[in-house]
Amino acid sequence: MENFDHVVAGTDGAGCTVRHLRCEACGDPLPYGARLCPRCGPARLAWAPGSGKGVLRSYVIYHRSYDPDMPAPYAVSIVELDEGPRLLARLEMPDRGSPAPGMRVTAELKNGCLVFRPDDKG
Ligand SMILES: [Zn+2]
Repeated sequence: MENFDHVVAGTDGAGCTVRHLRCEACGDPLPYGARLCPRCGPARLAWAPGSGKGVLRSYVIYHRSYDPDMPAPYAVSIVELDEGPRLLARLEMPDRGSPAPGMRVTAELKNGCLVFRPDDKG
């Protein structure tokens, strides 16, 4: 499993799974970057299982490279997981098509990075 601070991703036989932090008191997923439950405050947190699937909510395309391992252009997205939380991750469009907010995406681990791609099943 790779730890990305607010989510943990790993692979199993069905593909990439993305676990997220959830408040044990109210069950709500923690928002991106939160360290406490917005509803309950300092409650116990637990890792909740996730499918690794979600919806693209927004993205930005960088035309300048800040890392030799990420040559420009590349896209960074906000994805809302099916389990509720939103997160930042790279977005790859294999056919170089245009990303579209609302499109279904699937997680994968690529060289230790969490990446989302368009879901083949739409
Ligand atoms: Zn809570």
